[in-house]
Amino acid sequence: MTATIMDGSALARELEAAMKEEVKALKNSGVSPKLATVLVGDDQASKVYVRSKHKAAERVGIATLNNTLPGDISEGELEKALSELNRDPEVNGILLQLPLPGHISPRRMTDMIDPRKDVDGLTTANAGRLVYGESDLIPCTPRGVMELLRRYEVRLRGAHAVIINRSSLVGKPLYHLLLEEDATVTVCHSRSEGLAGITSRADILVTAVGRRPAFVVTADMVKEGAVVVDVAMNRVEGKLLGDVDFVPVSEKASLITPVPGGVGPMTVTMLLRNTIIAARRQNGLIVEVAG
Ligand code: NAP
Repeated sequence: MTATIMDGSALARELEAAMKEEVKALKNSGVSPKLATVLVGDDQASKVYVRSKHKAAERVGIATLNNTLPGDISEGELEKALSELNRDPEVNGILLQLPLPGHISPRRMTDMIDPRKDVDGLTTANAGRLVYGESDLIPCTPRGVMELLRRYEVRLRGAHAVIINRSSLVGKPLYHLLLEEDATVTVCHSRSEGLAGITSRADILVTAVGRRPAFVVTADMVKEGAVVVDVAMNRVEGKLLGDVDFVPVSEKASLITPVPGGVGPMTVTMLLRNTIIAARRQNGLIVEVAG
């Protein structure tokens, strides 16, 4: 079997084109979605991510505001900056770029964000709603994975999905989303025993480890005909690689995401999706979204 590539870049472009029209229509009815980002310190990777989020927002007509704060800022000062954005009626979405400097609690600061403006879906309130299947501000990466699975018509009901990751950003929300779609979900992590035995029974395998070369998903870990979604981003000798040993695994899988060009672009697009949802909700408009 040679896998079909799940083209996240193409899907992201397609969704962005639709969102551009949606934003135009919203503006005509007096609603101008606006996304505020908060970047603390000068982590180079974070700067690149924030810039790409701004560029994407601009492509679809979402206004942006960037707050860059010094790395030695106190929690109190950051709280104040977030409270101001919470109060700003023009700001619909707030994204606090993680990681934060070590002296600042990411949990406490994330929870400062008004859940209605929490476009990363990481506040305690929205994480709780997700457990109840009631949230529409869903973390962007899991939302992007679900959107890819839907677009490629992957059967979820009754399928065995295995996720290698238990973080609050990826594995835990994805577990709930897949469960909601009637998949049977197994979550693995660094302490899981017999990992290859578990993954090789997966109809859908999602990996998000990011520890190359110590961790690689090899072909023997993958079931014939499986759907393989690679969330990870590893920098190896200047190249961006996922967790998956791509060529041999794609000879076994039925569908596979590339890195780059798979989940990454979908994550950014889902941030735009969440910003539009937040803007609609805050203006009392109906929210109709798939994914
Ligand atoms: P993280 O919090 O470090 O999570 C990594 C997960 O991998 C943890 O659950 C960890 O287990 C597990 N793990 C580590 N070594 C393992 C091993 N040998 N066997 C099995 N599991 C192992 O990182 P994250 O923030 O979730 O991100 C994970 C990866 O996804 C990174 O490469 C990141 O860059 C990428 N990512 C990509 C996007 C995107 O848009 N494409 C978005 C977010 C993240 P423990 O819990 O036991 O430590």
